[in-house]
Amino acid sequence: MLIIMQQQAQECQIDNVVKFIKDKGFDAHISRGEVHTVIGAVGGKIIDPRDLELLPGVEEVIKITSPYKLVSRAFQPQDTVIEVNGVKFGGGNFGVIAGPCTIETFEQMDKTAKQLSSYGVKVLRGGAYKPRTSPYAFQGLGVDGLKIIREVADKYSMAVTTEVMDISQIETMLDYVDILQVGARNMQNFTLLKELGKVNIPIILKRGLAATVEEWLMSAEYIMSGGNRNVILCERGIRTFEKVTRNTLDISAIPVVQKISHLPVIVDPSHATGLRDKVIPMSKATIAAGGDGLIVEVHYNPEVALCDGAQSLYPEDFKTLFDDLKLLGPILKKKVN
Ligand code: PEP
Ligand code: MN
Repeated sequence: MLIIMQQQAQECQIDNVVKFIKDKGFDAHISRGEVHTVIGAVGGKIIDPRDLELLPGVEEVIKITSPYKLVSRAFQPQDTVIEVNGVKFGGGNFGVIAGPCTIETFEQMDKTAKQLSSYGVKVLRGGAYKPRTSPYAFQGLGVDGLKIIREVADKYSMAVTTEVMDISQIETMLDYVDILQVGARNMQNFTLLKELGKVNIPIILKRGLAATVEEWLMSAEYIMSGGNRNVILCERGIRTFEKVTRNTLDISAIPVVQKISHLPVIVDPSHATGLRDKVIPMSKATIAAGGDGLIVEVHYNPEVALCDGAQSLYPEDFKTLFDDLKLLGPILKKKVN
């Protein structure tokens, strides 16, 4: 249920509504918009909307039949804008994250980050714990990898995003990382999502390999209902019958999700296509479709990459892409950063 407060509602009236719904066993989630404050009543059993409508300062009570509550535009009409190291995602901003698939060595991260930062990239990606299909494939450097990416990012004044695979990794990661990434394979790891609801740094939630938009948004709802409002959704391709690309990029998911939800939607064109030469056109398609950003794999020398070299861009190609996105930005009313 959503309780929309009057424009001139006082703080004590908001507190009173919160107390009322909490006494009935609901959690209260407050969204302060420019005009109205909206209170989401989540989790409880029965409440008569008329009792709420009679409380001072209440303008309207909406019963929500859709499964989305905190992620929905009804709860928060304005776009969520997430800012990390000066890079904004959402609300007309197009944020760009780049870096290798995996943290391999200090030198590899240093060479890649040096080039990326010289192009103006401010958020560096790189996996320390890798969800590999084969247990015999390189699994990542673990904490040593986290130390490397942090040191390199600090050297070039960049922020760090890396994938968290298990709740046992969260505490350590918080010492090294600015954005936590939930990989496609963990999108419905509800225990992990609940724990991520308790941290206060942004979470990139990747769409599951075969997840519907509804399942994806419900996973975001898990994180938000735990108290963490900073969720960036990431479309990274879904599994279809088509084999010519690694996955099938669901570009239509961008406007579909943006209509339902206020959360930023970015795209990972690297895992979506699996092929370097498809990454650039799909990145441009992302901004054209109204996406809020990109997370792209770039390696200083993709030929020697331990993981996903074939889908990693050469730094110079990434630069051309970044420049092109900046040219497209004003036409598409997006601030590329
Ligand atoms: C990644 O971004 O490193 C990754 C493994 O992606 P996904 O979870 O989308 O497969
Ligand atoms: Mn990868």
